[in-house]
Amino acid sequence: MGLEEKLPSGIMLTTVEQIAGLVRKSSMWPATFGLACCAIEMMSAGGPHYDIARYGMEKFGATPRQADLMVVAGRVSQKMAPVLRQIYDQMPEPKWVIAMGVCASSGGMFNNYAIVQGVDHVVPVDMYLPGCPPRPEMLFDAVLKLHDKVQNEKLGAHRKAEIEEEEERRLRRELPLLNPSEVAGR
Ligand code: SF4
Repeated sequence: MGLEEKLPSGIMLTTVEQIAGLVRKSSMWPATFGLACCAIEMMSAGGPHYDIARYGMEKFGATPRQADLMVVAGRVSQKMAPVLRQIYDQMPEPKWVIAMGVCASSGGMFNNYAIVQGVDHVVPVDMYLPGCPPRPEMLFDAVLKLHDKVQNEKLGAHRKAEIEEEEERRLRRELPLLNPSEVAGR
């Protein structure tokens, strides 16, 4: 890896946080979660032309137990939302989520009752990727930005943010529905 040239004395001073960040970002394993047309671009990113293996991420796993990155590629239907959540819950900590494309980020053109209006209603999202569909280069850009975030994160900070987000989501769900007559009287 060229470490011998960079460390001629064989000594490296760093922190546990920096080492943990380096290890985590260098071996992110994505869980396969292609839902619609965006998934074609995600699959293309894994092929030899774009070669996501350059970033240590060639292992797209069918099991969430060995994955720490979920790339939600495509629109999420209401029926699929509990499945997505279950897969997310089965991934070990720490874990990250990329919402790939406008459909996963906000529902996109599918502004209707059948589609979740943004996957952040179901799981915490770390990166939102615009485009319909985003090209593999855009996915790589999001991945590299996520790598930077992971490298510089304090130990435990990610989990703390996740818990706060979960609590916020729970409170949002429990908000009492507004009475239509009250709304009309405003
Ligand atoms: S953003 Fe566009 S390409 Fe991606 S799932 Fe939605 S419609 Fe398909």
